[in-house]
Order: sequence, then structure tokens, then C-alpha cells
Amino acid sequence: MRDAPAVPTLRVSQVLGPITALGPGRRLGLWVQGCPLACAGCMSRHTWDPGGGHDVTVERLARVWQRALADGYDGLTVSGGEPLEQPEALGALLDTADRVRRDVGRAEADLLVYTGWEETEIAASPSAVLALRHADAVVTGRYRAGEPTRLVWRGSANQRLTPRTARGRRRYGPHLERRTDHPELQIQVTEDAVHIIGVPRPGELSSLERDLTTQGLTFRENTWRP
Ligand code: SF4
Repeated sequence: MRDAPAVPTLRVSQVLGPITALGPGRRLGLWVQGCPLACAGCMSRHTWDPGGGHDVTVERLARVWQRALADGYDGLTVSGGEPLEQPEALGALLDTADRVRRDVGRAEADLLVYTGWEETEIAASPSAVLALRHADAVVTGRYRAGEPTRLVWRGSANQRLTPRTARGRRRYGPHLERRTDHPELQIQVTEDAVHIIGVPRPGELSSLERDLTTQGLTFRENTWRP
């Protein structure tokens, strides 16, 4: 776990938006850097190294969130990496995101956090509980490649989507048992990478890679193979 710097700062892998495949509506997506859980089959191995990514102050992230709200975004999804490896910074981020949404009159915009921690592990950690106090919903649990699920926004059948606030119950309640055979996968291209956003089914990433290769894209490396 990282020491908290004097100015609240999060180690970040990437920030992308709008994303539509990890939570309801158009959202700002923030992937933190650093995860020690090493789930077999993780699609985001590039986020494991806590020394990767870059430091971003919560203040700067708040400005990005404010612009996203001004552009009509419906929520913020924090994923990773493991957000609870940085509990102080995560708590500061969610506190600030909560204040900003109220200040700009967008109090209905929701805050969703993906974590590999189980609910019992969160409950046993005062710093994790504190960090998540403004999270409207959490998706919890390690990714288990051998337990696929059709439930939306979850990667494996053991993972739980749990609303934690009244806003979260309004926003996520209708989706708790919603299933799909065709989960949305979103592709965003930046200067140096093709980002695949969403919760793919087993084998789907390799198939997508093959399709993109036949369309002329050459991959130097990908983030889901060791
Ligand atoms: S699936 Fe999530 S919790 Fe598991 S190793 Fe990957 S980033 Fe970490």
C-alpha cells in the first residue's frame, strides 16, 4: 500500500471518457495504477505495477470530473488496478467528486467503484470503509476466469454489484439481476494504444484482437496475456 502524499494524489493508469460499458449512461472512466491481487485472466495486467502510470492530484482529477459533468456525463467509474490499495487518495477523490456534483447541480450523477476486495475484506478495513463512504455502488470480488456470468457489468459470477446509497439503489437497482448475452465492449483509440473497455466474455479479447489484426492493426503487446 502506498504512503499518502501531503497533497492528495492518486497513482493513475488512465482516464477516458465518455465510457458506456462500465455502469449506466455516459461516464468518466478512471483506472488506478497498482494491483497486488494478480487474478488469473485479468485483462488489465498493465495496471498491476504500482510504479507504472503517473501521479495525478485529486484537484486535477476534480477539474476533469467537473468538465465531464458540464458535458452531461452521468457518472464516474473508478476501476483498476486496485482502488483500495490507495484508500486515502481514493477517499479524497470520492469526497471531492461528491462535493463537485452537488456544487454544479448534478447531484444525481453517481460514483461507482470496482474493487477486487470482497465485501468482508472491506468491512474489516476501517480505511476502506472510509474511502468508500461516498461510493454509490461497488462491484466487489476477485475476477475468476472459470466462473463466467451474464450479469451486466460483472466479470465473473462471484462478483457482487452492491448499491451503497439511496442514489445508488435508484441507479443500480434495475440492473442488479439484468443479464445479457452480448455485453458492450467499447473501443477507444489514443495516441499509443487501443483501449478495450467493458467486461468481455471468455475468448472475446483474442477474437477481437484477430479482427483488428485483419483490419491492419499491429499489436506490439496486449494487456491480458502474461
Ligand atoms: S481483475 Fe482487477 S483485482 Fe484482479 S488482478 Fe486485475 S486489476 Fe487486480
